[in-house]
Amino acid sequence: MLICDRATVLIDVTRDFAAQAERLTRIEAVALTHAHRDAIGGLPALRRWWLANRAPEPIDVFLSEATARVIRTRYRRLEHCRPRVTPPETFGT
Ligand SMILES: [Zn+2]
Repeated sequence: MLICDRATVLIDVTRDFAAQAERLTRIEAVALTHAHRDAIGGLPALRRWWLANRAPEPIDVFLSEATARVIRTRYRRLEHCRPRVTPPETFGT
């Protein structure tokens, strides 16, 4: 997780997200580096955080097309995510 004056950016959403999220009041963007559970397993918890914080807009989620396919298959409720498909080389994979 990166937090600076202007933005909070999550790098992957792990299954520890619920614990991390207790101190977060805003999340500007998420980057998902790959589609394993260690990187995307917290997406349902992210949705709960998003609903609880009444975030007005979906969160920009930067990911590869391959990762986008996996999360669409694995999770039905993704209204908290605004996919921003990015070339895989962005993540160095
Ligand atoms: Zn992994």
